[in-house]
Amino acid sequence: MSAWHERRAHEIAGAVRTGAVSAVEVTRAFLERIDAVDGEVNAYTEVWRAEAEARAAAIDAKRDRGEALGALAGVPVALKALLCTTEGTTDCSSRMLKGFRSPYDATVVRRLRDADAVLPGKVNMDEFAMGSSTENSAIKKTRNPWNLDCVPGGSSGGSAASVAADECAFALGSDTGGSIRQPAALCGCVGVKPTYGRVSRYGLVAFASSLDQIGPLTKDVEDAALALNIICGRDPMDATSAAVPVPDFTASLTGEVKGLRIGLPKEYFTSQLGSEMREKVERAIAVLEEQGAETVEVSLPHTDHGVAVYYIISPAEASANLARFDGVRYGFRHPDAETVDDLYVLTKSDGFGTEVQRRIMLGTYVLSSGYYDAYYLKAQKVRALIRQDFDRAFAQCDVLVTPTSPTPAFRFGEKTDDPLEMYLSDIYTISANLAAIPGISVPCGLTSAGLPAGLQIMARHFDEATMLRVAHCYEQHRGFDPGKPPIARGAA
Ligand code: GLN
Repeated sequence: MSAWHERRAHEIAGAVRTGAVSAVEVTRAFLERIDAVDGEVNAYTEVWRAEAEARAAAIDAKRDRGEALGALAGVPVALKALLCTTEGTTDCSSRMLKGFRSPYDATVVRRLRDADAVLPGKVNMDEFAMGSSTENSAIKKTRNPWNLDCVPGGSSGGSAASVAADECAFALGSDTGGSIRQPAALCGCVGVKPTYGRVSRYGLVAFASSLDQIGPLTKDVEDAALALNIICGRDPMDATSAAVPVPDFTASLTGEVKGLRIGLPKEYFTSQLGSEMREKVERAIAVLEEQGAETVEVSLPHTDHGVAVYYIISPAEASANLARFDGVRYGFRHPDAETVDDLYVLTKSDGFGTEVQRRIMLGTYVLSSGYYDAYYLKAQKVRALIRQDFDRAFAQCDVLVTPTSPTPAFRFGEKTDDPLEMYLSDIYTISANLAAIPGISVPCGLTSAGLPAGLQIMARHFDEATMLRVAHCYEQHRGFDPGKPPIARGAA
């Protein structure tokens, strides 16, 4: 029998509910695991040891009183550092918010608590979720459990690494342009970006409000369905959360894809995709065909503009959202300022890292008078075209299948001197955010260097159920066990 920290969330919750194991025992297993490996992985920025144990004990007491336990009974869930929690700090891995304590819980955090999950702490990320490698964190360098010399991806790199190294049962991340799916692909786990509006953003520190979504990073598709059942749904505290019924996602995992039409967008299979990644994705498509799915080539003609549009719209929104960090209201305040102007300049120059400053400048520029029409407005128009591409494609197929990332995990420093090169990590994931559709990444093999590759599946708005069904069917029939990274085997 495998150790508790290696188990899936659904197995843990089942065992805690029946009393086969106590929540305290499970929590201790994970805390020991964190002690054993996090010195190498550096996924956590804070571990809430006493709180997690107390919470587990309260769950056990509830069970002893004969009360029914929630769907995540005793399941340890790690939280990306931009989700507001009354426990610990919410620092977005930024100097600006070092030590910041939120007076309230994000809606997703409240829902996890209501489902009897245990919260072991906060995990690392690119500062304010800007990046694709977690190297933009002001706190620490998180390493990829599959190869400690490589990045875990980003911006939810701590979330992905903590799941891959068995330091939590699953984690929550956020995805503005790929930040759940890309690190999930690079760390060999499952990652879901739900439809925009599916999950409440209340208590998520905003990066780009028209693109941000919270979602789970898990060890399998069944756990992703379980997590989505808890976090999805309308929330009166977020006006953009949709009043669309949430189906039972677990029930949608039928194992059947017969007759489903899978679209293969030809713009995603160009020379930018390395041959090894292409071969893995093609093999995955063949698996789905063997299960009775039909494939059809489709076209998303505006794909090439995705990255450019994203790097106008997301910095524009970020420059507005980050204006609140001015040294007066939250977190860091520069001690040497003599005037208000000084206070702003010194606080922002010292409080924000280079990438965040770059985005604020880009955003301010594209929104400034004289440039607004040329950049921001034009980008919004192209965004509408990109969305239209997807509407047309989904008239021909039920889901789209593509690679998640053009490359597997890369080495530290490899892309830090060239922001454009880093931005291209998201060429396959950005469009789903621009079009507001759901996307999932599922492991589809290891490269010859032993690094995970990810398969992306995208679906129509609010059709996570079909997307999960395809992902689950693939996972059941892919014919290999993705295995554990070296760090999880204790070899690193
Ligand atoms: N890597 C992209 C960026 O740097 C996406 C980040 C995200 O999804 N939060 O903006």
